[in-house]
Amino acid sequence: MKRHNFSAGPCVLPREVMEKSAQAVLDYDNGLSLIEISHRSKAFVDIMEQARALALELLGLEGKGYKALFLQGGASTQFLMVALNMLEKRAGYLNTGTWSSKAIKEAKIFDDIYEVASSENAGFNYIPKGYDIPEEYDYFHCTSNNTIFGTQMKTFPKSPIPMVCDMSSDIFSRTLDFTKFDIIYAGAQKNMGPAGTTLVVVKEDVLGKVSRKIPSMMDYKTHIGKGSMFNTPPVFAVYTSMLTLQWLKNKGGIAAIEKENEKKAQLMYSEIDLNPLFKGYAVKEDRSFMNATFTLENENLKETFDTMWKEAGINGLNGHRSVGGYRASMYNALSLDSVKVLVEVMSELERKA
Ligand code: PLP
Repeated sequence: MKRHNFSAGPCVLPREVMEKSAQAVLDYDNGLSLIEISHRSKAFVDIMEQARALALELLGLEGKGYKALFLQGGASTQFLMVALNMLEKRAGYLNTGTWSSKAIKEAKIFDDIYEVASSENAGFNYIPKGYDIPEEYDYFHCTSNNTIFGTQMKTFPKSPIPMVCDMSSDIFSRTLDFTKFDIIYAGAQKNMGPAGTTLVVVKEDVLGKVSRKIPSMMDYKTHIGKGSMFNTPPVFAVYTSMLTLQWLKNKGGIAAIEKENEKKAQLMYSEIDLNPLFKGYAVKEDRSFMNATFTLENENLKETFDTMWKEAGINGLNGHRSVGGYRASMYNALSLDSVKVLVEVMSELERKA
């Protein structure tokens, strides 16, 4: 049976990417597996360099003073690393959900953090707007897409200070002026590859401004200086990410995938709005195109609905435990056909009920 993976992450990857990376585990270089060749060999250094170059190219940041790194420790380590490298006196954070809150918690190890705005009072179902970013602060941090609550920043403030953004769950999914950002980070496991590596894109001139000593492994400059090879890199995760970036480039880049993502999201949200059995969680104007969160109006239908979507080959539709209900994650590699299958199940439930 064809499976439709709506999981919030680790996510669906293009089939052709998985086939190629599976083959590379068996034989990459004259009978040697990708995961047993030296990471210092030309074969792997080329992969790392291609992955870094492709990331910058797709984001439109080539030749603009940025460096791309593939690090370990997940996006969660970036919560800490950003503060270690950038926080001298105080930083401003926009609190839009669980992941922003976690980023704030880590930064608070170093100093009081100023929350420029928060949507916690409404269960993080919207994106605050119209806040001020104090220009005397070191940086402003935001989360572009809130994986758990299903909200997405549609516009970004004009920040008078460096802007740092956690793009873990919508990187490479939509066109943006990425030059607005000074640091972008994203765990690979939504739109890029398997868990195990995190893309960090840093504008070099924002570094070197804090007075503290930064441990080597936590210092962006260390990783930039060593071409993202300071320690043994997660070769499988980097290779698979590189293949996904190549796949995206061959498809026509972010602009091309954005059109597909818009179609998927429109189909999904129009069903949520038109079908009286369902209700969207996030306010309409801030709805995420990656993670659609919704609930059943009548909980008595839960068992029937759960059986129906599972029988249709759908996986990973349960909402996060802190929100409940359902969450349809529609990352880049999920096809429009998969969304059609889910929408058909929802319509069928309405016909039956
Ligand atoms: N930030 C966002 C927006 C996320 O969705 C996640 C995980 O889902 C994280 C950070 C944490 O990522 P990691 O598990 O790679 O540390």
